[in-house]
Amino acid sequence: MIKQKSKSIIIIGGGVSGLAAGIYAQMNGYDTKIFEMHSIPGGLSTAWKRKGYNFDGGMDWIVGIDPKMQEHSIWRELGALKGKNVAFYDDLFQIETSKGDICTFYADPAKLKSELFKFTDDDEDKKKIKHLCKSVKRFSKSPSFSYKKPENLYGPLDKLSIFIKFFPYMGILTKYNALMIKDYANSFNDHRLREIISYIFYNPDIEYSVFPPLFTLSNMYNKNAGYPEGGAYGLSKSLETRYKEFGGEIYYKKYVKNIIIEDDKAKGIVLEDGSELYADIIISSCDGRTTIYDLLGGKYLDENIKGMYENARVHPSMVKVFLGVDMDFNDEPHSKIYLRDEPIDILGTISKEQKSILIRHYCHTEPSYSPKGKSVLTSFFVANYDEWKELSKDRQAYKDEKDKIANIVIKQLETVYPNIREKIEVIDVSTPVTIERYTKNYKGSIMGWIATSEVDVWSKQVGINIPGLDNFYMIGQWVSYGGLIRVACCGRYAIQTQCSKDNKKFRTVLD
Ligand SMILES: Cc1cc2nc3c(=O)[nH]c(=O)nc-3n(C[C@H](O)[C@H](O)[C@H](O)COP(=O)(O)OP(=O)(O)OC[C@H]3O[C@@H](n4cnc5c(N)ncnc54)[C@H](O)[C@@H]3O)c2cc1C
Repeated sequence: MIKQKSKSIIIIGGGVSGLAAGIYAQMNGYDTKIFEMHSIPGGLSTAWKRKGYNFDGGMDWIVGIDPKMQEHSIWRELGALKGKNVAFYDDLFQIETSKGDICTFYADPAKLKSELFKFTDDDEDKKKIKHLCKSVKRFSKSPSFSYKKPENLYGPLDKLSIFIKFFPYMGILTKYNALMIKDYANSFNDHRLREIISYIFYNPDIEYSVFPPLFTLSNMYNKNAGYPEGGAYGLSKSLETRYKEFGGEIYYKKYVKNIIIEDDKAKGIVLEDGSELYADIIISSCDGRTTIYDLLGGKYLDENIKGMYENARVHPSMVKVFLGVDMDFNDEPHSKIYLRDEPIDILGTISKEQKSILIRHYCHTEPSYSPKGKSVLTSFFVANYDEWKELSKDRQAYKDEKDKIANIVIKQLETVYPNIREKIEVIDVSTPVTIERYTKNYKGSIMGWIATSEVDVWSKQVGINIPGLDNFYMIGQWVSYGGLIRVACCGRYAIQTQCSKDNKKFRTVLD
């Protein structure tokens, strides 16, 4: 019998989605090569070292830790968690108002209820709190959101089984998905609850519904969300190792500037030095707009793609302040938001009046990020890309603004730890422009699009295929929304679809 030659695949980008696609492709007998513009794997899922401190730039938690959940087997297929300890969170964060009220958003619904009850005697408020807490508890029993199959491969039974599995949770999903945090917070009668609840997912100015914090709390409660040892970069390195173990090749510092197309079939790529490389299938895992408008030259646009790229809102970027401090914060909450009466005078936040400062430390989650007895502290602000981009044209002004933000964070810390300034050994600030420079994501977006029902419709229509173009897939956070498990699944979907086209049974191997 003549053995058929394996098909070859070129993957553009070595972030989590690109690496996941590479792993599944290698598992299924394809010959793959990944071309990544940076010198390390991971894209947004990254970290960097400064003077003995490790600064995690891309993960707060991941879902899929609980071995009973479907997502867990995806992490196992990717070798993402092997041999790693996982730190769990008992709460989302603690918040302290300018009046000194302190509230912890506990993951345990019973504790959350008593914590929020502290602020109100009002029956209507209590009813809402009870419903929220009951929903967190109930949703903690819901099945995985990340399916092991793309929708294009669903049979009638798949849809039915998903419907049946989710039916008991539809009430919660529908109610809290449609309820925006701002409106929800404003519906409380107690003014302190109105303020506190508006921060339930960090920043009242990102237009989130109540569902994302509810989902996060329930996943923290059932220990399906946690922080694996090594964080964002550790996860990327594990995927890179797994990819190479299965025979994949990854090339760094290779910027892809074009996709070669003949007769509406993707044939290869052109690198920045002009060299051309050919493969049977091309997968782009890099920024969506770059893929559609630059690499494909804007030649493959339909109404859904146009709808999305012209109208959908991009998830905002972040300014992050990282501090390496010669102090131990083990006795402090892992994350705390301080609210102030006066807005903070900094440029480029999406809030018109930025009145909160978040401080997070890694002493519980990942003590190895700092030398013994020392700590990494971070603070982030949801940022306005355009203002930062404009400012970055003046290097000195850009640097001054970064210094100013770091100083604001340190001043806030001084109100609690008066001597902290002299204990700070490293200061580093990343902005939306930093994220854009290192990953090429549009406007430095950390999650692709903001989830809305319109984007849901467009992205369902668009999916991983580009209409009119064969031998090509587009994956990653601009297709699936951001989040590490989602982009990993997206890489899986491309290879499942290709296996189906090639009449091959899709195979996976657990670590
Ligand atoms: C601060 C922050 C916090 C986050 N927190 C969480 C969290 O707690 N939990 C969670 O699940 N998710 C979190 N995320 C989101 C998650 O990290 C991303 O959604 C995910 O990593 C995106 O992966 P991707 O593969 O789609 O894209 P990317 O990571 O952007 O990967 C694309 C890759 O393509 C490369 N590339 C781009 N253009 C080219 C080109 N022309 N040629 C070659 N290579 C190219 C880039 O360098 C990059 O490596 C966070 C992200 C950030 C930034």
